[in-house]
Amino acid sequence: MWRSRLLWRLLAVNIFAVLAFVAVSQAYIELNLRQALRAETMADLESRARLAFMALRQAGGQVDLNEVGRRADARVTLIRRDGVVLADTDADGRAMESHLQRLEIQQALVNGVGMDTRIGQTLRREMDYVAVTDTKDADAPLLRVARPTEVTNARLNAMRQGLLAIAGALLIVGSGLALFATHLIRSPIERLRAAAEGMTEGRLDAPVATAARAAGGDFSELEAALHSVGVQMRQRVNELEGQSRELASIMENVSDGLLLVDPQGEVALVNRAATRLLGLSAAQLEGKPLWQNLRHPEIHDLLDTLREVDRPSSVKMDLGAGASTRTLEIVATPMFETAEGEKRSVLLVRDRTEDRRLEQMRRDFVADVSHELKTPLTSIKAYVETLLDGAMDDVEARGPFLEKIRNNAERLTKLVSDILDISRLEGSPTDDARQRMDLNLLVERVLAQFKERAERRRVTLEWVPAAAPAFAVVNDEDLSEAVENLIDNAVKYTPEGGKVSVSVSTHDDRHEIAVSDTGIGIPRESLPRVFERFFRVDKARSRALGGTGLGLSIVKHVALRHGGRIDADSELGKGSVFRISLPAA
Ligand code: ADP
Repeated sequence: MWRSRLLWRLLAVNIFAVLAFVAVSQAYIELNLRQALRAETMADLESRARLAFMALRQAGGQVDLNEVGRRADARVTLIRRDGVVLADTDADGRAMESHLQRLEIQQALVNGVGMDTRIGQTLRREMDYVAVTDTKDADAPLLRVARPTEVTNARLNAMRQGLLAIAGALLIVGSGLALFATHLIRSPIERLRAAAEGMTEGRLDAPVATAARAAGGDFSELEAALHSVGVQMRQRVNELEGQSRELASIMENVSDGLLLVDPQGEVALVNRAATRLLGLSAAQLEGKPLWQNLRHPEIHDLLDTLREVDRPSSVKMDLGAGASTRTLEIVATPMFETAEGEKRSVLLVRDRTEDRRLEQMRRDFVADVSHELKTPLTSIKAYVETLLDGAMDDVEARGPFLEKIRNNAERLTKLVSDILDISRLEGSPTDDARQRMDLNLLVERVLAQFKERAERRRVTLEWVPAAAPAFAVVNDEDLSEAVENLIDNAVKYTPEGGKVSVSVSTHDDRHEIAVSDTGIGIPRESLPRVFERFFRVDKARSRALGGTGLGLSIVKHVALRHGGRIDADSELGKGSVFRISLPAA
């Protein structure tokens, strides 16, 4: 309160006003009251002088001048018309010089009354003098009354003191009022200041107390406005917090890794996916240069170019070793300025392991296909050349050569057809040709094709259909080919006297097509790989039997495309069983 400038200003105004009041009153007293008092004193002295003069005349000179003076409450001097002092109440009249030249005497001789104020020679103090006489009587003396001016001045002084007392009182009352007014003005301002301070510290919900707003008063509108500013700011803050939470949760939950780095490559922010992909914790990454934890030349180069690039740049790198190697692609955006004016770049970390694996598979496939095609083509070329070299004319020999050429051509055809199947099955996931079919009928139809071949190879074919029709939505052609491949393998890899059993069965909401044989079996370590393209346990044997190494791969694709599964069990030398399981419909 005492540091309030308002208070000191009000006090200054008050002091100034009181001083002005004192000055004006003083001037008034000096200029007007002093004159009026003088006039009054003179009139009073005049009437006293006249009364004394009359009393003197009536008494015919037999009067005690001192008594007259007492009644007039003044000094009385009796003066002859020639100026000789006859008597004086306060001094020895005979010793006094002629008073003829005194101003009041001169005036009285002319007008009957005369006045003057001066320092008297007799008493040596300032006096008011009034002299009277009778102008019609040439012998009449002059009677003069005199009184010290102090009497009049004392009244003026009393007035001045009164004035000072009033000024003092005004000063005290004015200061009190100034204090009160300051309090009145300052208390709502104080509330506003506290509210504004609260707002800067984040207390936005109810910056100004409801009671204060309801109290009315000159500041209530301002308080209400401040309050609604606070409430709106709270809403905005809530919105922004919501948005930032959303962004944070998006950032946390995207599958790509995100890192926010500064121009020196120091990590400012990192999401969960990034920690997972880089195999480092947030604590290991945040606040440190990225290359400190990822000592890869690719990262170093990327961070080096970060400051200069104006379009996204990316690097690929391998993390880890052996089977757990992951291929990561890191894309860096050009530097941008954050709201705080700091330069940042976003590093996007993507797991490219699967891409790289698929890429590798594609490359392997092309290499395998070329190799597979090359073998029969080389054979055909060799047989044709042999024929051209003369074997053509040898009727006995050309038969087997031409037979070999036909076998290789068939092999080529089978290869190309299997490759085409594989690429078709791997291609578009949609399949319009599906229909609801009874698997019993489908498998039985395929099985019938093998009857002759099995008899020829002395392999028993057993058929165990499901008790009830086993309906499923399938692509007839694809599933028939898959079943055909399974039965073909079973017959192919089962020696004479063996048995191939084909069954359809229903388990809850799934149907299972099983093809089992008592054949050569598959070594345990090779079993997981038999569904890979071109994988063959025994290449020479497979080739001799007209296999392409693509049959089981096709079966697997068909099963998966139907929302089903394929699995295999086998024991070397005892036999194998392959099962396709499909959802019932
Ligand atoms: P292939 O055309 O060589 O038969 P598949 O993809 O059909 O190619 O089979 C891959 C490999 O799995 C075969 O080369 C063979 O070694 C093995 N195999 C498949 N079915 C059987 C089975 N019923 N008995 C033994 N081995 C099998």
